[in-house]
Amino acid sequence: MAMIEFKNVQKYYDKFHALNNINLKVDKGEVVVVVGPSGSGKSTLIRTINGLEDFTEGQLLVNGYDLADKKTDLNQIRKDVGMVFQHFNLYDNKTVLENIMLAPKLVLKRDPKENEEMAMRLLKTVGVADKAGSYPRQLSGGQKQRVAIARSLAMKPKALLFDEPTSALDPEMIDDVLNVMKKIAKEGMTMVVVTHEMGFAREVADRVIFIDNGQILEDEKADIFFKAP
Ligand code: ADP
Ligand code: ADP
Repeated sequence: MAMIEFKNVQKYYDKFHALNNINLKVDKGEVVVVVGPSGSGKSTLIRTINGLEDFTEGQLLVNGYDLADKKTDLNQIRKDVGMVFQHFNLYDNKTVLENIMLAPKLVLKRDPKENEEMAMRLLKTVGVADKAGSYPRQLSGGQKQRVAIARSLAMKPKALLFDEPTSALDPEMIDDVLNVMKKIAKEGMTMVVVTHEMGFAREVADRVIFIDNGQILEDEKADIFFKAP
């Protein structure tokens, strides 16, 4: 069973055809990078996967759940599929550690001690353990994004979606974030990544999707996508 499968998915914003007959399969453990011009539908495509956007027609299966089925619990999908945003979306009034512990506490009812141990372990993984007691405003952009990644991982997701995770960062911070993403990919996480970082795509992606005007124009293994013509 594929982790994510789009079958003839159409999405309209009123009359605007934002996703045009999307067929896409992402298997467990695959890293798929989505590229394409601004406004081509990249963000809409990945936001559809965890139900942040609905769609108009077709079928979308995520970890076996049918997103068009009214009985599907979107909270379950969002537990299974984490999302990392361009602008971090951290809780500004909570410390780094509290940011990471919040959803596991509220949603998973994780034992407090276990929750804190796991949060600290994840902060070490992303290299920001020394900021556990800091507030987001005290962090650089790169540190905030690594905290956001740790926060997603704390839910033990089956897949992670990244929507231009480095686009809001100063250039010198980009590699720190990409390196954390590489580490997660190596550990076998299923990932769909919208990014302009072609070095990352070349090195880490299994497949590259090129989308324009809401249509997938290419869906290739990375080595073929990047092969010189
Ligand atoms: P990308 O991520 O590739 O830049 P988006 O998925 O954000 O593209 O947007 C695709 C197209 O859909 C754009 O033309 C955008 O203007 C349009 N769009 C996005 N969100 C909405 C919305 N809520 N209402 C109407 N149009 C939208
Ligand atoms: P970088 O070193 O990656 O270029 P910054 O210059 O933004 O990032 O931050 C350098 C260090 O200063 C980081 O460790 C960050 O946590 C810390 N820092 C940044 N802004 C503040 C702030 N307003 N208060 C406290 N610490 C801060």
